[in-house]
Amino acid sequence: MAPAGPPHHTPEPADLVVAGALLVATVDDERREIAGGWVAITDGLVSGVGGPGTEPPAAEVLRADGCLVTPGLINTHHHIYQNLTRSYRPATRSDLFGWLTELYPLWSRLDEEAAYLSAWIGLAELALGGCTTSTDHLYVHPTGGGDLITAEITAATELGMRFHPTRGSMSLSQKDGGLPPDSVVQDDDTILADSERLVAQHHDPSWGAMVRIALAPCSPFSVTPELMTATAELAERLDVRLHTHLAEDPDEDTFCLETYGVRPIEHFEAVGWGSDRAWVAHCIYPNEAEIARLGTWGTGVAHCPSSNMMIGGGGIAPVAEYRAAGVPVGLGCDGSSSTDSASLWMEARNALLLGRLRRGPASTGARDALEIATRGSAGCLGREGELGQLSVGAVGDLVCWPLEGVAFAGAISDPVEAWLRCGPVSARHTVVAGNPVVRDSVLVHPEVEDRLARHRKAAEALQSPFVS
Ligand SMILES: [Zn+2]
Repeated sequence: MAPAGPPHHTPEPADLVVAGALLVATVDDERREIAGGWVAITDGLVSGVGGPGTEPPAAEVLRADGCLVTPGLINTHHHIYQNLTRSYRPATRSDLFGWLTELYPLWSRLDEEAAYLSAWIGLAELALGGCTTSTDHLYVHPTGGGDLITAEITAATELGMRFHPTRGSMSLSQKDGGLPPDSVVQDDDTILADSERLVAQHHDPSWGAMVRIALAPCSPFSVTPELMTATAELAERLDVRLHTHLAEDPDEDTFCLETYGVRPIEHFEAVGWGSDRAWVAHCIYPNEAEIARLGTWGTGVAHCPSSNMMIGGGGIAPVAEYRAAGVPVGLGCDGSSSTDSASLWMEARNALLLGRLRRGPASTGARDALEIATRGSAGCLGREGELGQLSVGAVGDLVCWPLEGVAFAGAISDPVEAWLRCGPVSARHTVVAGNPVVRDSVLVHPEVEDRLARHRKAAEALQSPFVS
């Protein structure tokens, strides 16, 4: 006979509990920071966050002793395929236009195998550096190269990374006054049809989606205004996001004034892109009125601090002004052969340093950089409240950063500041949708050596005859 009284409620165990953190920085609406905290994840979403002694039962417990736990960092701008031509010697002293002109012929050899391997290695690198969601901007689609973006998605799925590939494009070749050679551009109809196909095949609009597609003509100097306009119309019809490079280099100002009679951001508006559907990479050279316009539109900016310093023409994106104007500002590592590395920890630190260099030490702290790398990036991707914070119902993406050892000795008063001011540090655990992608500082997928060997062959094929 059943005992009388209220039914006994045993709470459903969570799929995963990350427990024993030094500090959980939730970056939630209240910006709670919980010493000794834990995070529970069930069905890929955060199902609880709390303090010591209140952990729910779980199928699996991941220890975070000595770690700062943050939401997974989100990369809003990248060209992963470029890791096949990293630090390519003939171009290391070039400015942006010279560097591109040197590398376009190499990139014209891209194929599905190369795209798959570059994405596999690039996303593995990002995961080890604390990234859980990455975009990619693949704008070179050589004739006969195959379905490069589907090959990348295969790699992301194998690794368990959340992925937002963008269908990049170039349609304005040298013979028409653009920068790229004929071999790497496509006509507008081909680009638009392939964009629509990729959205139909891969784009998942649902909450917690692992793959979303955005449309991404490359830049004002490599696509026609007609393609920009048609792409904006297609994105509206398919309800997907828009991405492009904007105001990246002083040469771009000159090009736009000579070609279109307006500045880059005026051109961007004229082709129908001034909206909260778009986020743009770099945006280093706006004037004051243009910053306000971007804020009014709600257009996001992917801040790429290493790239600003490496190849951006000497300027630094006005991040503080953007944020004051209401522009969503996210973080990006930019292409693998302009920045060459892809650690979002390093980008966050560089955002901290550049912010302080521009506006003084009181202007920017580690929490600002963390905010940009999480909530700000989620805003760029149109996923506020879903990505970039540890709150119930948000995605179960987080990173455990070990603040231990000689690099962190003495840093005992503020783990969030210590995280970026000390270091360097990479992830002990990187969890995506409740699944560890990196565990104990090692990639969980067992085949990294095989992919590295194949990547080496693909890189040699692209760089031959300079490297053989
Ligand atoms: Zn870029």
